[in-house]
Amino acid sequence: MKKIECHLECVHCHRTYDIGEVRYKCDCGHTLDLRHDLAGLDGAELKARWEKRWGARHGLDRSGVWRYRELIFDAPESCFVTRQEGNTRLYEAGKAGEYAGLKHFLLKHEGENPTGSFKDRGMTCGATAAKFYGAKIVACASTGNTSASMASYAVAGGMKSVIFIPEGKIAYGKLAQALAFGGKTLQIRGNFDDAMKLVQEVCAELNIYLLNSINPFRIEGQKAIGFEVLQQLDWQVPDWFVIPGGNLGNNSALSKGLEELYTLGIIDKIPRIAVIQAAGSAPLAKMWKEHTPFAPVLNPETIATAIKIGNPVSYEKSLRGLKWSNGVVESVTEQEIMDAKAMVDAAGIGAEPASCCSVAGAKKLVENGVIDPEATVVGILTGNILKDPDAVIGYHQDTLMEHYGIRGTFANKPVVIDPTLEAVRKALEK
Ligand SMILES: *Cc1c(COP(=O)(O)O)cnc(C)c1O
Ligand SMILES: [Zn+2]
Repeated sequence: MKKIECHLECVHCHRTYDIGEVRYKCDCGHTLDLRHDLAGLDGAELKARWEKRWGARHGLDRSGVWRYRELIFDAPESCFVTRQEGNTRLYEAGKAGEYAGLKHFLLKHEGENPTGSFKDRGMTCGATAAKFYGAKIVACASTGNTSASMASYAVAGGMKSVIFIPEGKIAYGKLAQALAFGGKTLQIRGNFDDAMKLVQEVCAELNIYLLNSINPFRIEGQKAIGFEVLQQLDWQVPDWFVIPGGNLGNNSALSKGLEELYTLGIIDKIPRIAVIQAAGSAPLAKMWKEHTPFAPVLNPETIATAIKIGNPVSYEKSLRGLKWSNGVVESVTEQEIMDAKAMVDAAGIGAEPASCCSVAGAKKLVENGVIDPEATVVGILTGNILKDPDAVIGYHQDTLMEHYGIRGTFANKPVVIDPTLEAVRKALEK
């Protein structure tokens, strides 16, 4: 099988560009997709190759992204930057499934990636593109996980990284990683959307390669979440995928990848996709429910900092995927997010707040009669529980009311006792 040709294509006017040129947007101002020439490809042969690579011990095939490289970005060999990302587990949801009212609920834990979030899948592809273009420095604006991931992959690829973070709350686990991996970290006075605008200017002026999810290569790497879930399910297509939405790159990647598999005949059914936003940062949900044109949310708020984004860059790609998959958009409150998180955590699985929109959203959609309780549902857990220890401790100490209006409904408070056997006995009786 020869290498598959790729080009860039505008989501809006469909103008195409050669990938030889560094480009993040069309001249018309809209975002770009990386398009693979699927015509004449043998889906069955591709699938057979991927099956053969499963469990590989050496080389690129070990990566849960590059295992599918024909449909990701089949770069020249010297360009690949990988940390054996992907290969994350697909769990039975246990308590979280009962809580959501679902009989067949699986959780794909993307928090098990090398830096603790699905961003590594996009970043391995973005960093590979950076090498492909000969970049020496990469940059991103980030609410946390993108910067943690980029800093790590920059080191793996022998590049420098510059990170723009918004003012105010950044989850500690993420900031710690960015600093530890040696990213040059610039905290700007403004929110995420301000940081995003600035980093685009900086990259254009200073010859730095931009690794936000506006970068079409990032989205390509993230398609592998869907590919890997299907491979784990022996290519049996679930009824639903439920996934959190912030900048809306990840759900766009999921639908794009599934559409390609469907075109190639590797899957024969289209799963429905539900995108879940936090109520305080839900421009897509608003647009979807009220049938209004897209309008950014000016002051996005949520304890789920990974999706605290008012002006999502990939909303057009997201809408396209929702239409293709007969999908839905829902929003969930702060209380719903943290109670669902308590259930994911109590199932012994654990994930950061934004991830748990998948479970909170699934529950709501079951209650509203949109998802059948008998359906097979895959929820994507996007980030690791340890990314945001403050949120966990705050919930279990029940101290989130003042700032976020969140009660510790299922709080498991630590108990202070005297160092005596009697005190322990008493504490255990309760
Ligand atoms: C980035 C991120 C999201 C949001 O993904 P988008 O592609 O921006 O919609 C959700 N959860 C976590 C943990 C993230 O890091
Ligand atoms: Zn265009």
